[in-house]
Amino acid sequence: MKKLTLLGSTGSIGLNTLDVVREFPQKFRIEALSCRSSIEQLAEQVKEFQPSLVCVDSSEQAGELRDTFPDTEFVWGVDGLSRISSDPDIDLVVSGIVGAAGLKPTYSAVEAGKTVAVANKEPLVMAGKLFMQTATKSGAKLLPADSEHNAIFQALHNEPPERIARLILTASGGSLRDHPLEDFEHITPAQALDHPNWDMGSKITIDSATMMNKGLEIIEAHWLFNTPVQNIEVVMHRESIIHSMVEFVDGSFLAQMGLPDMRVPLAHCLGWPERLPLKIPRLDPLSLNALHFEEIDPQRFPCLTTSIKAARQGGGAPAVLNGANEEAVDAFLQEEISYLDISKTLHSVMSKYDQITSLPESPSFLKDINTIEGAEQADQWGREQARNFMA
Ligand code: MG
Repeated sequence: MKKLTLLGSTGSIGLNTLDVVREFPQKFRIEALSCRSSIEQLAEQVKEFQPSLVCVDSSEQAGELRDTFPDTEFVWGVDGLSRISSDPDIDLVVSGIVGAAGLKPTYSAVEAGKTVAVANKEPLVMAGKLFMQTATKSGAKLLPADSEHNAIFQALHNEPPERIARLILTASGGSLRDHPLEDFEHITPAQALDHPNWDMGSKITIDSATMMNKGLEIIEAHWLFNTPVQNIEVVMHRESIIHSMVEFVDGSFLAQMGLPDMRVPLAHCLGWPERLPLKIPRLDPLSLNALHFEEIDPQRFPCLTTSIKAARQGGGAPAVLNGANEEAVDAFLQEEISYLDISKTLHSVMSKYDQITSLPESPSFLKDINTIEGAEQADQWGREQARNFMA
């Protein structure tokens, strides 16, 4: 029986994880849950899975829930998240908190030497070097739960990095892949949130529309698979059947395929090194007339170009870019800025980054990230620059 902590239990990753756990009650026990705002839904989950530990956002929320569930211990805030991620009783932590908020709890899990199913890409984007170094020291195992990285993980099958010629990440192209370019200035949040293949949270769906998501995934893959950024490429693949592929030095390609369903990569991480007999709709190869692969249009997806540059720069650039992107996406969803303003904001923040880091007296957290505090400072700097530009 594996004992699990699920960070972000009411989000898309959380719900898919609980679906898998529900199917295999003899294999997994939800020992701890966390959720920030969907308290009613959380209460339903506590009733069903009876975790011993639950983390919420505030002491008030904890107090209210304690009355209803006297057998469960309730903790709160960032310290609470770190507590449930590093508890000695836990075997596996599923990191499904959206955005930079997942940084500290995921790091606590890695420091404590846990097996971590990484579904939240931002911690690795913000502080990838630190995460990998800490995992080596603590013996933590990072299992990629993002569908693309899980595909690569499966295709690689423990082959060492020197055998990799290229990692090829597939991209659906998101909600705006066929939207007329001349209408891009009028795109509404509702249009950008209408994803053709995947049902995900709003932040990641916008990142998918701008293809910022693939930029973050390049950085994530760079760290997880110890592969240079220039050997990681993105191709558009509308069908979302091939979830990513590896080209080896001998010219062999291995790809992982299946219907787009997050339960597959999550179950792979939960069950690893076993495979679980998952009850899900199956891919019928006879239903596939063709699989298409297209080059990414940089005019349609300028955020990808900006993020590849930040990936190559390394140091604090990815954390700055990620912070700026979270602010810009949030402002777009609040209808404070236009869709095109997202890429303009990121471009401006990264130009500022180049300018500042070329000066000898620029802050050290912009140049290199060696601590969680450094990652948070770079993130804050990116957010502040983004807010200034948007204002
Ligand atoms: Mg992905």
